[in-house]
Amino acid sequence: MLQNKIIVFISLLLSLFFVESNISQSSNLQQLNINNNWRDRQPDLQILAQHPMGTVKYITVHQTETPVPDSVSETQRLRNTQYGHQVADKRWGDIAYHYLIGNSGTIYQGRSTDYAAASSTIYLTQPQWQSAGQSPAGKALARHQQTFAPGDIAGHITVSFIGTYHNKLPSQAALQTSTGLIAALLKEHSLTTSDVFFHREIVDRKTATDCPGNALYKWFRGKPTRGAIGEGLQLVQIK
Ligand SMILES: [Zn+2]
Repeated sequence: MLQNKIIVFISLLLSLFFVESNISQSSNLQQLNINNNWRDRQPDLQILAQHPMGTVKYITVHQTETPVPDSVSETQRLRNTQYGHQVADKRWGDIAYHYLIGNSGTIYQGRSTDYAAASSTIYLTQPQWQSAGQSPAGKALARHQQTFAPGDIAGHITVSFIGTYHNKLPSQAALQTSTGLIAALLKEHSLTTSDVFFHREIVDRKTATDCPGNALYKWFRGKPTRGAIGEGLQLVQIK
């Protein structure tokens, strides 16, 4: 009798576990429609190979800081940005970001997540950024531009909105797409919304940035506090 009761109890526990694990409705990354056909230039794999991603620990949100509305198409904008990051201004091997989101609602594949992102700013380690408090908004300094990946940038998957969002938000389509992408990336790498950060939160004060723009940051966080959950992160949580 006792054995039977134990078996019933264990099957109840197992069924609860499986119900629980089905609650997450987020798509797998592989199910998302991601455009990887925008390039007119191949990445420089020799440069990229010097900066492997390592274990993915964070998702970091950015803006490309390009004009909105844009006078060129999203794909042309990506080609222009890649040219700047790889050839003209910097030597970063490819476009700096792993994923980009256009106001059309399209997700674009940037550099491979096998490689670290690139940045003009210095990424702090987690203990550093936690003790440094909130980085002040400011302009990234140009003197670091030639350095591929200053600071502790490996382990950050970067998601960047195409445009500039200090005073206005991206389109509803872009916001919706971004929450689905972030949820899928969190699922893919066994992370949670507490592993989502915004560029301004994790950089050295000398290279402080207001990326991803005040309006967009407020939409995600609700208030300017690392760890706060605003409308955007709530949407990520329920996906
Ligand atoms: Zn940024």
